[in-house]
Amino acid sequence: RLTLGIESSCDETAAAVLRGGRELLSNIISTQIPIHQKFGGVVPEIASRKHIVNVMPVVDEALRTAGVKLSDIDQIAVTYGPGLVGALLVGVSAAKALAFAQDIPLIGVNHLEGHIFANFLSAQELKPPFMALVVSGGHTALVEVKDYNKFRMMGQTRDDAAGEAFDKVARVMGLPYPGGPQIDRLAKEGNPKAIDFPRALVKSGDYEFSFSGLKSAVLNYLNAQKMKNIEVNRADVAASFQDAVIEVLIAKALEAMRETNMDTLVLAGGVAANSMLEDRLRAAAEENGIKFYFPSRILCTDNAAMIACRGYYQALDGGFSDLYLNAVPGLGLNDVG
Ligand code: ATP
Ligand code: MG
Ligand code: FE
Repeated sequence: RLTLGIESSCDETAAAVLRGGRELLSNIISTQIPIHQKFGGVVPEIASRKHIVNVMPVVDEALRTAGVKLSDIDQIAVTYGPGLVGALLVGVSAAKALAFAQDIPLIGVNHLEGHIFANFLSAQELKPPFMALVVSGGHTALVEVKDYNKFRMMGQTRDDAAGEAFDKVARVMGLPYPGGPQIDRLAKEGNPKAIDFPRALVKSGDYEFSFSGLKSAVLNYLNAQKMKNIEVNRADVAASFQDAVIEVLIAKALEAMRETNMDTLVLAGGVAANSMLEDRLRAAAEENGIKFYFPSRILCTDNAAMIACRGYYQALDGGFSDLYLNAVPGLGLNDVG
């Protein structure tokens, strides 16, 4: 069974071909990061227009690289939310047109579920049940994955997402978009214990997160130093900020695993590419006898391979869409099954 995946929710136009649930034949990603960088963030209107130009060439390249023809494809999986409405609509429209023309099934995929499923492509042996810590540009959540089509939301962020905090802190420090990888790099030269930034909700006894206070604390610190004419050590700020984010993520993930008695933890979303988060989670997992998985770098951030994988498993349970499928920009991570 060949699944074509299409992703266009933000600033990556991507297409991938997957055989069965786990054999990736191609994974093409056309990123718009250099285009949006000069604006310091994603400009939605520009993103939509670039998706329109890129979507069919990216699909063609995914087919060519996989060595298959469009007529060989059995089903099409596409991200229908969450994301930027104009950006999502491009992928959804292209997928609907292709599914209609080829007379094959269409599968509307939740982008966040896709991030979780990236792990199945990196670890062939991984099977549910497991706990997923989703840390992306727009979301931070703990999800109990009971089965391929059965999820329970444990808790999420009340305000900013972890990735959003990385991007905003980087921005006030004058680093280019996207800020996550920049903070990651800078933090390697800094002392994570240099500044005591707040760990919000770390002892709240639930699985909710909050990162907007941390972002303000970093901003206030930078302003206070400036007022006092003190040169800030940017590496220390980056490392201390990152340490605060990571500490909360790990504490809550471990607590959720204890409560549910799970032995496997998977990391998902763009922030999963953070080297310190990976290292610290791996160490915490080892200490607690937990099996730990995270996607390969290229599968952490937005891609269509994860969408094809999610679509494949969703279809096994009859999770198809009709040609009225529409973009749902505010789609969240909800309980499923
Ligand atoms: P969502 O998936 O919630 O809709 P998105 O698709 O924009 O949002 P992702 O592609 O999952 O987000 O991830 C992008 C985010 O990951 C950005 O916030 C980026 O700064 C962050 N990120 C990428 N690499 C790293 C890194 N090495 N360290 C920390 N953050 C990172
Ligand atoms: Mg992106
Ligand atoms: Fe994403």
